[in-house]
Amino acid sequence: MEHAELKTQPTVYLETYGCQMNIADSELITGILRRAGYISAARPEDADVILLNTCAIREHAEERALGRLADLARLKHRRPAIRLGLLGCMAQHNRARLVEKAPYLDLVAGPDSYRRLPEFLGQAGFDPIVDVRLDRGETYAGLGADHAGGPRAYVTVMRGCDRFCAFCVVPYVRGRERSVPPEAVIEECRALAAGGVREVVLLGQTVNAYRHGAVDFGRLLTMVAAIDGIGRIRFTSPHPCDMTPSVIAAMAAESKVQPYLHLPVQSGSDRMLAAMERGYSVGQYLELVERLRRAIPGLALSTDIIVGFHGEEENDFEATMALMREVGFDSAFTFKYSVRENTRAYRLGDSVSEPEKARRLSAVIELQESLSMARNQAQVGKVLDVLVEGPARRGAGMLSGKSPHFKTAVFPGTPNIIAGDTVPVRIVSASSHSLVGVPAI
Ligand code: SAM
Ligand code: SF4
Repeated sequence: MEHAELKTQPTVYLETYGCQMNIADSELITGILRRAGYISAARPEDADVILLNTCAIREHAEERALGRLADLARLKHRRPAIRLGLLGCMAQHNRARLVEKAPYLDLVAGPDSYRRLPEFLGQAGFDPIVDVRLDRGETYAGLGADHAGGPRAYVTVMRGCDRFCAFCVVPYVRGRERSVPPEAVIEECRALAAGGVREVVLLGQTVNAYRHGAVDFGRLLTMVAAIDGIGRIRFTSPHPCDMTPSVIAAMAAESKVQPYLHLPVQSGSDRMLAAMERGYSVGQYLELVERLRRAIPGLALSTDIIVGFHGEEENDFEATMALMREVGFDSAFTFKYSVRENTRAYRLGDSVSEPEKARRLSAVIELQESLSMARNQAQVGKVLDVLVEGPARRGAGMLSGKSPHFKTAVFPGTPNIIAGDTVPVRIVSASSHSLVGVPAI
């Protein structure tokens, strides 16, 4: 009897860098490849295909991915049949140059090319495949992402960005704004709820610019809130200029929309905001914060801050510190300005030295630690609903989850509490990073 050759399914290992959009894209890629017959490998050593989904937002992010790529190239050197691919924003940003820098790459594919990945990976060839075409129509609607598990899931509702902030590479690497049809968003949320997801995070680079026909982002929030099984809704990142009365009204009216908002400000100096082409002034941002806090009592706010943008003087930086104090952010993601090729600010230069950027960054981090501490201390004594995610990283028997304000809360578990439960927790202490409590059942 002749032995038929045993054909096993190919395995794929995917590593993700960058923001939530990339995490969600990786879930999409995993779904696409699974349906094409690939099985996921937990380690690159066990994979036939190794993919890195990369970020281009700062130079550091690119350097990390290139370093990792060099490690993986050694693996490919030992096992040449491995196919090595670089996906995402960095693929788009560096395009063909990448193939020169990393000649061992078999595939370079941008954020609008994921539908064709099985086709690309099936084409064995000597030359690498480079596909970085941006597609104004690609929303991947209805394609189905493989949710990584847990009670919270990301749902991409819009892609791309039309804002072109002077420092930012996103509009160039992710292309023009386009929204997923509301029916596809609702269907995905329903499927997630049926699979045990309790909280959805609606995603987009300027998520509140969502618009599909007559459905704006406020309307979309209301539609998602009507889905049984979904108990909590969050979204990120909204742009201050797209924080319309419709969005604020939906946040205020829908109790499922959590009282937490990530509202990137970038700088507290009008001069810098204008140079960054953000489209608002400090006064307008503060007025928006006031309107939000009036409409949604107890609203928690986080932000993004860039220090050392070209031309930032000491008084501009001090203005950022003053704004942080005035708003009293619950948390902040803080970055040193990184010049990005192709952006509008690229030609301006990089006037703030690296040590000075580092000093300013340390100062904003230190200030934010104290602001976060004060905001978290104010939760002590309150009973908060915590959506349980699973065992806490530290402390045997402790469970961890998120409060409505998106603060990490840990508390001693009991056998009847499992991931996905919402548990009232009395907060007994707080640090700048988390809350500690006891179940108040
Ligand atoms: N679309 C979102 C917005 O406008 O708020 C943010 C998208 S971006 C992935 C996240 C953050 O990265 C930005 O808010 C900004 O603070 C930071 N960022 C973007 N470009 C940067 C650059 N060239 N250097 C330093 N930080 C940057
Ligand atoms: Fe980048 Fe500005 Fe678009 Fe945000 S709004 S992704 S910072 S260009």
